[in-house]
Amino acid sequence: MPAKKALIIGAGIAGIATAIRLAVKGYEVEVFEANSYPGGKLSEFEQEGFRFDAGPSLFTMPQYVDELFTLAGKNPADFFRYQKLDVVCKYFYEDATQLNAYADTDKFATEIHKKTGEPIDAVKKYLGNSSNIYSITNHVFLEQSLHRLKTYLRWDTIKSIFRFPQIDAFRSMHKANEGFFKDTRMVQFYDRYATYNGSNPYAAPATLNVIPHLEQHYGAYFPEGGMYSIITSLVKLANSLGVKFHYKSRVDEIALNERTIAKGIKVNNHFIPADVVISNMDVWFSYHKLLKNHSQLFPKKILQQERSSSALIFYWGIKKQFHQLNLHNIFFSADYKAEFDHIWKRQDIYDDPTIYLNISSKYKADDAPEDCENWFTMINVPANTGQNWDSLITIARQNIIKKLNRLLGEDISQLIVCESILDPRGIESKTSSYQGSLYGTSSNSQFAAFLRHANKASQIKNLYFCGGSTHPGGGIPLCLLSAKIVSDWIG
Ligand code: FAD
Repeated sequence: MPAKKALIIGAGIAGIATAIRLAVKGYEVEVFEANSYPGGKLSEFEQEGFRFDAGPSLFTMPQYVDELFTLAGKNPADFFRYQKLDVVCKYFYEDATQLNAYADTDKFATEIHKKTGEPIDAVKKYLGNSSNIYSITNHVFLEQSLHRLKTYLRWDTIKSIFRFPQIDAFRSMHKANEGFFKDTRMVQFYDRYATYNGSNPYAAPATLNVIPHLEQHYGAYFPEGGMYSIITSLVKLANSLGVKFHYKSRVDEIALNERTIAKGIKVNNHFIPADVVISNMDVWFSYHKLLKNHSQLFPKKILQQERSSSALIFYWGIKKQFHQLNLHNIFFSADYKAEFDHIWKRQDIYDDPTIYLNISSKYKADDAPEDCENWFTMINVPANTGQNWDSLITIARQNIIKKLNRLLGEDISQLIVCESILDPRGIESKTSSYQGSLYGTSSNSQFAAFLRHANKASQIKNLYFCGGSTHPGGGIPLCLLSAKIVSDWIG
């Protein structure tokens, strides 16, 4: 019997992972990608001797990448290597406090105690709560579809449902964090985890306080070849399994037959038949662009959900090395509430934004010329709803430089030798992410997990979805889980 054919729209990380999983299952797989390169948001570029990872920079849960190699019968280390970070991130506060978030929990709790006076036990109690939420939510919300009866018939789901009051879904992350810590710096420290999926800590349910457990317990890593090596190694694996990639091949339509069954795709007016179609394109655009003649089939309520925040990034080549900086650095705003009100209520940028600074040349020296550093300087900004970005960017650039000058005691503007900028409009146009949101829909309500699009279309047979705009959500680890859920479902 000939192999069944799967067509995947988009070579983002979830599209590539789905391709690998289906190829392992014996499917004939082809991936159609609009760009001339794979990876979507996870991409890289070079400028004047500096290499920049353009999108994600924090790598957690590497076991989900390794699993793809193991599944294909290969040794992950033959394709892809990474190292664990001793210091996950360095934090700078406006009151001159500097904190090292050590991977080792004892060392981390001691550091917190030394710098903020919070008892060591308070940190451990917090992380214990985070771990407890993970043990309840992991199987139900992350590793399975929320949209299959099968999920609710499993014993571990039933057990988790009985423990639901413990997941703290009815107060905000911020409220819960205030309950754990007296020191406002610690509340801000843990509030920040809401931004890991583009949400607002003053609105997102305290269930998201699960995120610190993932970072503290499983660790943060640096891929030896930089973040983009995640993509190059997975594409190499996919090629070795016979997956065919077509670049510069924008899909125009998902073709349905009269019984609303997906029967293939159209690329440049050319019909390509398939047994299953999987879209790794943002779900909003999948419906509005690829299924635009079938609006009666749109899941309207799901598509109306609020989008996650976006980002404004300045990629700067810097002609100096800063020994007080680490791979990941955070420069906190003095008023976090005001910052999030600007992003979520006013839909603009606060004049004292929290700055995330990633310097991959700290771990991969050839990412910058000698005595230089490659700065990925990012702030959280609202999704694109038509703001005057050119004017917002000019002001934000001045404010970022002013803040870094103040906290580093150096005039940064004199050290910038090259610059590129990415804003929500660019993220939207380069990766077809609706409104340039980084993580699909926001998690600003306790129902968000249930209102994220399922990994399968409810009204169209043989059409599946993977990637950050679908269940279980955005970020590399969850995108990889979406691929697992899709391939299990198809299988
Ligand atoms: P995407 O990356 O969204 O790619 C979709 C692909 O589909 C694109 O290549 C696009 O060109 C293609 N496509 C779309 N439409 C079509 C079509 N019609 N035909 C053909 N191809 C099409 N995550 C982390 O884990 N850690 C981080 O530190 C982190 N930081 C981030 C920082 C930034 C600036 C950004 C932008 C994202 C960040 N993320 C981070 C989020 C993470 O990058 C995403 O969640 C993840 O990469 C999304 O992958 P995806 O599979 O959904 O596909």
